[in-house]
Amino acid sequence: MLRNDQLEQWDRDNFFHPSTHLAEFARGELAQRVITGGTGCHIEDRDGNRMLDAFAGLYCVNVGYGRQDIAEAMAEQAKELAYYHAYVGHGTEASITLAKMILDRAPGHMSKVYFGLSGSDANETNIKLIWYYNNILGRPEKKKIISRWRGYHGSGLMTGSLTGLELFHKKFDLPLSQVIHTEAPYYFRRADLGQSEAQFVAHCVAELEALIAREGADTIAAFIGEPVLGTGGIVPPPEGYWAAIQEVLERHDILLVADEVVTGFGRLGTMFGSEHYGLKPDLITIAKGLTSAYAPLSGSIVSEKMWSVLEQGTDENGPIGHGWTYSAHPVGAAAGVANLKLLDELNLIQNAGEVGAYLNTQMGAALEAHPHVGEVRGEGMLCAVEFVKDKESRSFFDAGDKVGPRIAAALAGEGVIARAMPQGDILGFAPPFCLSREEADEVVAKTAKAVTAVLG
Ligand code: PLP
Repeated sequence: MLRNDQLEQWDRDNFFHPSTHLAEFARGELAQRVITGGTGCHIEDRDGNRMLDAFAGLYCVNVGYGRQDIAEAMAEQAKELAYYHAYVGHGTEASITLAKMILDRAPGHMSKVYFGLSGSDANETNIKLIWYYNNILGRPEKKKIISRWRGYHGSGLMTGSLTGLELFHKKFDLPLSQVIHTEAPYYFRRADLGQSEAQFVAHCVAELEALIAREGADTIAAFIGEPVLGTGGIVPPPEGYWAAIQEVLERHDILLVADEVVTGFGRLGTMFGSEHYGLKPDLITIAKGLTSAYAPLSGSIVSEKMWSVLEQGTDENGPIGHGWTYSAHPVGAAAGVANLKLLDELNLIQNAGEVGAYLNTQMGAALEAHPHVGEVRGEGMLCAVEFVKDKESRSFFDAGDKVGPRIAAALAGEGVIARAMPQGDILGFAPPFCLSREEADEVVAKTAKAVTAVLG
C-alpha cells in the first residue's frame, strides 16, 4: 500500500484530471481525494471519511455502490471470455442479451442498439448516423444539428459543440459550424421576459421556428435534447414544452435525438424520459445508468424509421463505415445485463420515483423560504437548488463569488456530496436509486446547514 503523501505527490505530478483547474491542482491549491470503497449510497476515501454520495458519482451509480451481483457477472465474463469484437456479425451472449433487454424496455418504435463506451461517443455515433441517413435519402444539404443552450451532450469535437455551455467551447474553437443553438427551456432564468410559463413555452417554440426559418429547414437534420436539462442546471421542462417542440420538428422533417444518458433506465422514476414526457425520438442516447457505471458502456438506440434507411445504405454502399474496437465489450455487456436485472429485482426505479419525490418535497420545504434560494426544482431522483443574490429582482451572484462551489464544499464538510453545477450557482442532487427516506432527510438537513453556513 502506498503511503498517502506519496500517492498525493504522484497524483499531482502525473495525473491529468478531467474537468479540473489544472494549475490549481498542480500547485496543491485544489484538494485531492482518493476514493477507496463504497456501499449503497456511501463512499469512503483513503483518510477514512465516509460520505453520502448524493450525486451517485456523476449521476451514474444508479443501483448504488458495492453491488456484488454486477461485480461477479463481470468477473465471470472476464474469466470466460474477456474480449471479442463485434465487427462483421460477431457477438457474445452478453452483448446480444443486453441489446434485447434494452429494446424490451425502450419505446416500441425503436429497433436496434449500437454499443459505445461513453455518452460522448454515443452522440458522435448519432450524428454520423443522421448524416448518413440524409445522404442515403438524397438530401446532402440537410445536415445541421440544433441543440439547446445549456444542453450537455459530451465533450468531444462534435459533442462538445452540441453542449451549450461556455466552458466547453471557450478556447477550443467550438462549436463546429454544423451546430446551431436555440433557447433552453429554463423558465426560472428568463424572468426578464415577464412571461407566464405557457407564454415562455410559446417563446421557445417561436425561437426554434425563427432559427429554422433563418437557416432553412432543408439544411437542418436533427434536434438534440435531454428530456430534463442535466449538467446545464437540472431543469425539468415547462408543461407542454416537448409536445410543442415535437410538433415543429415533425412539420419540418427534423429528426429528434433524445439524449437519455442521465434520464435513461429510471432516473425520473420511469424507464425512459421519452416515456415520461411523451417523446417519440428517432435516436436515444444511453450510457451511465445502462451499467450504473460499473463498466464503461453506452449505446445509440435506433428507431425503425432510421434503421430501414441504414439497411438500404449498406445495400447500396457496403458495410457501414463505423465501428470501434471496444463496441459491445463483453465485460461491459455483462455488467449491463446484471445491472438491468438488479433494477427490476429490487424495484429500484419505483424507489427512485417515490424517494425522489420525497427528497424534492423536503428540500423545497426546508429551503424555499431562504432569502437566497431562488428555486428548488426536480423530477424523480433529480433535484436542484438555485441560489440568487436577490429574490425580488431575481439577480444572480457573480461567478467569481463561487457561491455554488462554496456551499458544495460546506456540504462535503458535513459528509454529503452534491455537485456545484458548472454554470450558475446551482447545487445538484442525483443520488443512487436506493436512497432511503432517512438518507433523504440527512441530505436535506445537511444542505440547509451548509446553506446557512455560507449565506447566513
Ligand atoms: N449526454 C448527457 C446528457 C450527459 O449528461 C453526459 C455526461 O454527463 C454525456 C452525454 C456525456 O457522457 P460521457 O461523459 O460518458 O461522455
